[in-house]
Amino acid sequence: MEKLKNYINGILTTAYSSNYINDYNPATGEVFTMIPDSDAEDVEIAVKSAEKAFESWSETSAEVRSGYLMKIAALIKRDLDKFALAETTDSGKPLWLSKSVDIPRAVKNLEFFASAITHFSSESHLTDNEALNYTLRQPLGIVGAISPWNLPLYLFTWKIAPALAAGNCVIAKPSEITPLTAFMLSEICIEAQLPDGVLNIIHGYGNKVGSAIVSHPKIKAITFTGGTNTGREIAKVAAPMFKKLSLELGGKNPNIIFADCDYEKMLETTVQSSFRNQGEICLCGSRIFVEKSIYEKFRKDFVDKVKKLKTGDPLDENSFLGAIVSKQHYEKILYYIDVAVKEGGKILCGGSNIKGRGRCEDGWFIEPTVIEGLSYNCRANQEEIFGPVVTITPFESEEEVLMMANSTEYGLASIIWTENLTRAHRLSSKIKSGIVWINCWMLRDLRTPFGGVKNSGVGREGGLEALRFFTESKNVCVKLKN
Ligand code: NDP
Repeated sequence: MEKLKNYINGILTTAYSSNYINDYNPATGEVFTMIPDSDAEDVEIAVKSAEKAFESWSETSAEVRSGYLMKIAALIKRDLDKFALAETTDSGKPLWLSKSVDIPRAVKNLEFFASAITHFSSESHLTDNEALNYTLRQPLGIVGAISPWNLPLYLFTWKIAPALAAGNCVIAKPSEITPLTAFMLSEICIEAQLPDGVLNIIHGYGNKVGSAIVSHPKIKAITFTGGTNTGREIAKVAAPMFKKLSLELGGKNPNIIFADCDYEKMLETTVQSSFRNQGEICLCGSRIFVEKSIYEKFRKDFVDKVKKLKTGDPLDENSFLGAIVSKQHYEKILYYIDVAVKEGGKILCGGSNIKGRGRCEDGWFIEPTVIEGLSYNCRANQEEIFGPVVTITPFESEEEVLMMANSTEYGLASIIWTENLTRAHRLSSKIKSGIVWINCWMLRDLRTPFGGVKNSGVGREGGLEALRFFTESKNVCVKLKN
């Protein structure tokens, strides 16, 4: 069986411990590869190599750094099919999705920040003709990047690309559940001749490698995407060390549907925003609120559509939903369906696991599930399930739906469907979330600030926000007159 390796100081290497962790294919339930079970020793070696690499990487021109990122992007693009198959094998997501979204977006992340850094500039201020103040934006040094399993290469590159572009060296840990494309990225970096130590990719558990990265005194900033509880643990360690922190955490996003919306467009998109990637996207709209006058119609039409969605082998191009990423997560989702039923929810479709066919007999599949009849403040409507489970709830007024939408501890994204743009703008300003989509979902522009409010995180990634995060600003004041 293939064993993956860490990428430290420009070479592929085994973990200091020589131990391995099993990596499962969620569609078959089988171990298909093994990854290094790394720990603080590996992080220490990586920090030393990154420290050395930083001396020259931080001095290279933006154009040179941009060139490396462009080369890496081009090599991933060349191997798109290979990367897509790996992502699907590791995460259980449909192959068509890996091919059309995950891998192309990883390429775009690299290209975007490769270009952005060549346009990045800082401010200067003429102070009453007495002095000129200008701002230097300098790389931080070594930064840590920790990413989750739901959009593996997509989110990994979202962090690494701006950090490297800004002149930092990076120590990155992909989720131990989906490490394969990060490993393939290390092979690509070697092929692209990225200087040794500039990027180090260390595999292993969060409570070993992850926490060693977070607590290392020489690592100046942490960019983390993952669950809110993990984010809290990271902040407890990193904040007293005065590290820069960007935390992109969980969500429980409302999808608010008014009777005056473009109904067909809304219905089509709501199926996507509920169940794409098995509902394992932090931006999915898992709480659907529908204006009472169209509630009955919506319920029937939505459930009819959801019942037609095929769940099964991710390699089958007709599967809209693939497998759930891990056995542990599969059990968590089933547990929450049970909680919802105990709380009085009525399952309109789905509600249980499905046995896969052929090679997928032992895979982890759950039917897309729609639940109604729950109070807005019950556990199923407040806690993040992060799977193919949505609830539908009627509302009568704008005030009522706003109250319900804002009732959770989260505030990542929200979706509003209405043709009344005055109302859409009014609600957008009052809703507590970092992103509001009006009459669309997942329409992304990489220049926009991305992140959440409340317990969905702190800091913003994307565009210039990311380049600002990965640089330290220094004010230089030059006296012009004596
Ligand atoms: P986790 O928080 O469990 O893990 C995220 C990463 O952190 C993994 O690499 C994990 O390692 C690592 N980790 C775990 N414990 C520690 C620790 N003590 N110190 C440092 N690192 C640690 O999240 P999931 O992987 O389960 O991802 C799902 C979550 O991510 C959901 O809550 C989802 O909403 C959120 N998410 C948020 C997004 C956003 O942009 N706001 C986007 C996508 C997902 P290990 O491999 O051992 O688990």
